Amino acid sequence: MAMARGMTSSAAVLPRLRVLIADDDPMIGILATETLIPAGFEATVVGEGHAVLAAFDQVLPDIVLLDVEMPEADGFALCEQIRKRPRGGQVPIVMVTGRNDTASIERAYQAGATDFINKPILWAVLPHRIAYLIRAHRNAHALRQSEQKNRALLQALPDWTFVSDARGIVLEHLSGDAHGRSNDAAVQTLENTLPADTARKARECMQTAAGTASAQSFEFDVGSGDAQQSFETRLQPQPDGTFLFIVRNITERRRTDARIQYLAYYDTLTALPNRQLFVRELRRAIRAAKRTGSRVAILFVDLDRFKRINDTLGHAVGDALLQSVARRLDTCVRPQDFVARGTPDRESANVRIARLGGDEFVILVADLDDPQQAAMVATRVRHALAEPFTSDGHQFVVTPSIGISVFPDHGTEIEDLLVKADMAMYEAKDQGRNRHNFYRETTSGRSLERLDLESDLRSAIATSEFTLHYQPKVDAQTGAIDGVEGLLRWYHRTRGWISPSIFIPLAEETGMIGPLGDQVIRAACMQLRSWASRGLGHLCVSVNVSTRQFAREDFVESVLRTVREYEIMPQRLELEITESLLMRNIEEVITELTRLRRAGLKISIDDFGTGYSSLGYLRQFPVDTLKIDRSFVKDLHVSSDDAAICAAIIAMARELNLTTVAEGVEVIEQLEFLRDHGCSQIQGFLFSKPLPAAQLEELLRDGANLTIKPCSVEAIT
Ligand code: C2E
Ligand code: MG
Ligand code: MG
Repeated sequence: MAMARGMTSSAAVLPRLRVLIADDDPMIGILATETLIPAGFEATVVGEGHAVLAAFDQVLPDIVLLDVEMPEADGFALCEQIRKRPRGGQVPIVMVTGRNDTASIERAYQAGATDFINKPILWAVLPHRIAYLIRAHRNAHALRQSEQKNRALLQALPDWTFVSDARGIVLEHLSGDAHGRSNDAAVQTLENTLPADTARKARECMQTAAGTASAQSFEFDVGSGDAQQSFETRLQPQPDGTFLFIVRNITERRRTDARIQYLAYYDTLTALPNRQLFVRELRRAIRAAKRTGSRVAILFVDLDRFKRINDTLGHAVGDALLQSVARRLDTCVRPQDFVARGTPDRESANVRIARLGGDEFVILVADLDDPQQAAMVATRVRHALAEPFTSDGHQFVVTPSIGISVFPDHGTEIEDLLVKADMAMYEAKDQGRNRHNFYRETTSGRSLERLDLESDLRSAIATSEFTLHYQPKVDAQTGAIDGVEGLLRWYHRTRGWISPSIFIPLAEETGMIGPLGDQVIRAACMQLRSWASRGLGHLCVSVNVSTRQFAREDFVESVLRTVREYEIMPQRLELEITESLLMRNIEEVITELTRLRRAGLKISIDDFGTGYSSLGYLRQFPVDTLKIDRSFVKDLHVSSDDAAICAAIIAMARELNLTTVAEGVEVIEQLEFLRDHGCSQIQGFLFSKPLPAAQLEELLRDGANLTIKPCSVEAIT
């Protein structure tokens, strides 16, 4: 049983009514969810007949949509059984059937059904119809069953029926006349009853029907454009040699079919084809390639760090971005020049883009002579995305990582090719993102490596294999160490040191950052307590907090609990957050930061200058310190631009009463510049790299002699 709940604003307009849908067709479940949820309903889908009664008792629905034909269950019998349940008499039951005959309508009413709808279901009107039925049922319990029955019987009647003889002369109109022709014309023939082409078609069908003694059918259209109406005609040969014509207006059904087709094969957010359609096209392309001896490439495109945008700026911005990306992909792979063969028309037919879900897109390039042509498409995609996107006042650049697999070079099976393109994409990510990689034999090994790392990370967290190293922060004027930054270190038993730039993003992606971050805060508090008891109580420790970690519901509470538990002075603990956090739900973030600061903790913004926020924007946030990002410090002694940026950040921070820390100070010229411009603290290899606690204590003991001496620049990898 699958349950889905509507949560859009329309839910506020309609009361949230519970719909129980019993249907074995999974498509019905999907479509019902797609249409009912946004309209504010709760939808529960049951696919098996035997589970319907239990679901009814559990869900207590406001209405039941019951498929007449389910495997191992008779819809009519189920309807009767529901009616016998304790609440069964009060709920409208709508029978859904592919059958169009009056007999099943009769049976449905005998079984206690309230109403009756035919498949295909008109999804667009379904929510209204359901809401109406529930209301009608509630308000007018006494609504006479016979009235409802007549209504449904009328609905099931065809639009128009007539009888013709074998020569095509209309003998009798039985009901309706879709075209307003009257019975008093002198002689009515098929030619003056139906449109000209259609009459010809009707005569052909009559011949076949007479020859085979079986019913025939054909469709025809009247009018054009929006006014076009579609009709389906069935003709049934009669024992007396005449033909019964049953003409039905199927305009609405055609529209519904088109809509269902769309929902089944297209992604509703971006209007691109979905996986099903893509696989279908891919199958066709591979079949053609086998005939012509050409190649087919699959490009698996994943947006780098898209999750971060979604997490920080919200889903609305994320969705808008995906739509813009889809538009750009669509235009950039259309141009003609990258596929070598064929006419322009054929070329555009050779490229297909689809969205697989999330931030994953796939591009199919068919009819290739040379795999390198696929690389050209990849380059084109990267160029197309290079231009910044703007959404909701934010500007950002989104880069793609692209994996490519080629038929028949890398495989002949569709699933295999998709998996290999996906693996190659992961390899492109591992190799620094914003690039494309072809699948190679070694790729699968690497991909497994990532999986290994993920499970190793999980067990390392479980067994607390991490340590914190501490990098001193030095007063820019006096050279005294007055704080340290705690940086995570992971020594892997076979791979040695693993850089945080590898395992932190992995922990963020997999949600492990929550428990890992808790361990960091705990370790920092334990260290503060130990230092306080050994005369080093003046030291302040800062720890890094990921946005995803901060976003956890109990984050603030758990930090404050840990601070109390270790009885440390809250002023000695500083949380380094990133600018991206400030782009989230602003009010909520301000409230939480305020709670932390009221409790005495300090807040600093790490890597400042790399995000999207301006100093003016910062004014509203309760923070203490800005850490100028290393990328500005790195060249500040050789680049006048970087020097100007650093000077401006320091000056404006002072105006906002914030202290500044410069990260990544490696040479004396950088130190002098920063000190002269009033930067408060300096952190970097010039003084010390991050050290284990014991070594840091040694450094502090020699503190009196601490002079500015360059140390070797070596990063732990
Ligand atoms: P960060 O918070 O900006 O940390 C500063 C990084 O710069 C550290 O890299 C540090 O070793 C490095 N660094 C310091 N001075 C210099 C210098 O003079 N030159 C150069 N080239 N580098 C310098 P590390 O330890 O590899 O950490 C990288 C990032 O990983 C950190 O950047 C932080 O974002 C993240 N990280 C580390 N520990 C944690 C943690 O406990 N939690 C979270 N969420 N993230 C962490
Ligand atoms: Mg930091
Ligand atoms: Mg930093």
